[in-house]
Amino acid sequence: MTSTQKAYRAAILHSLGDPAEVGLDASYEYFADGVLLVDNGKVSAIGHARDLLDTLDAAVEVIEYTDALITPGFIDTHIHLPQTGMVGSYGEQLLDWLNTYTFPCEKQFADPAHAAEVADIFLKELLRNGTTTALVFGSVHKVSVEAFFQAAEKLDLRMIAGKVMMDRNAPDYLTDTPESGYADSKALIERWHGKGRLHYAVTPRFAPTSTPEQLTLAGQLLTEYPDLYMQTHISENLQEIEWVKALFPERSGYLDVYDHFQLLGQRSVFAHGVHLCDAECARLADTGSAISFCPTSNLFLGSGLFNLPMAEKHKVNVGLGTDVGGGTSFSILQTLNEAYKVMQLQGAKLSPFKSLYLATLGGARALRLDDKIGSLQPGNEADFLVLDYHATPLLSYRLQQAKNIEETLFVLMTLGDDRTVQETYSAGKLVHSRR
Ligand SMILES: [Zn+2]
Repeated sequence: MTSTQKAYRAAILHSLGDPAEVGLDASYEYFADGVLLVDNGKVSAIGHARDLLDTLDAAVEVIEYTDALITPGFIDTHIHLPQTGMVGSYGEQLLDWLNTYTFPCEKQFADPAHAAEVADIFLKELLRNGTTTALVFGSVHKVSVEAFFQAAEKLDLRMIAGKVMMDRNAPDYLTDTPESGYADSKALIERWHGKGRLHYAVTPRFAPTSTPEQLTLAGQLLTEYPDLYMQTHISENLQEIEWVKALFPERSGYLDVYDHFQLLGQRSVFAHGVHLCDAECARLADTGSAISFCPTSNLFLGSGLFNLPMAEKHKVNVGLGTDVGGGTSFSILQTLNEAYKVMQLQGAKLSPFKSLYLATLGGARALRLDDKIGSLQPGNEADFLVLDYHATPLLSYRLQQAKNIEETLFVLMTLGDDRTVQETYSAGKLVHSRR
């Protein structure tokens, strides 16, 4: 007799809360020899092998990983699908980088065949890096998001995406109009939002590239459909902030532009927020809006250092974002490596357990999906990873010296990358194996 259940035996670690709120010790649960029991795509139990193994029916298959760590799947709260082919473009800061590299690259997504090809590469890359959920920018073209959702649906992934709305201050070949941006977004929402594990995000690129008419219609979409997401950029670069002030002189600041058009809320995620002030953080917290912290991008584009302690002080939800292609890696482990350095440059520490939280449960909370993903609590969807302690010779040697799980975790985040991700599971199905 076969069973619908499967058991995975390895060291298991997951977040239970934000260390800033509950303290380090209460923020995680660790089983040195653990079992994760999965049934019909969901976690049905988690615990010590010594407690759980004896309770299993003999028909349950037990898959064992030695010298490996199971964690929840990583959550990337900010990434651009159409920038996959331009990661690592040299020499510019945000506004020149957009004009020189980004817009010409995104232009190619008018072609459905190109969009489908890159969607496939992009999804494989996410899964190779252990990212099981992402909040994704398409290009201005509806087909870019069609292609992404089609590819994500085949693998039954929990993904969120939206078509960029952009009706000014960009090349003619890459702009929509308030009406076409609204209609195309609406068509995508009707087709994909809530289908399987997919969600739609209304996606104005950022305030400078949308007219007040377009931002009004973006806000209107959010009121027309329940549980829609909203994603955009904010306060990434000082020149950008000056530009927003010049374009919207009647508004009190950058966040106030979005606030005025009713784009803040529980499912709104603002990328970067490097130069936000206290009042803006307080407003984000009041409205339940979240920030996506994108360290590799902020360093690569010379944007600045994100003030995580300030966001914590105001209790703003923060997730982690790779921001590929401004960011330089699909790897959440490498993104955490850079996040640590961003904190060091500000005289602050980023503990390994806070890092784990940002990459998993914190991201899930930012996306209001923490009742489904982000931790391995029974009842949650079985999105998880297996990290290999012997992925590289140096990692293997270094981890032999690690004294506890805290040190092991920090070394994985510092030396680890896509090579470290041995397997990725989504809803209990193997969606990537390094072998
Ligand atoms: Zn971005």
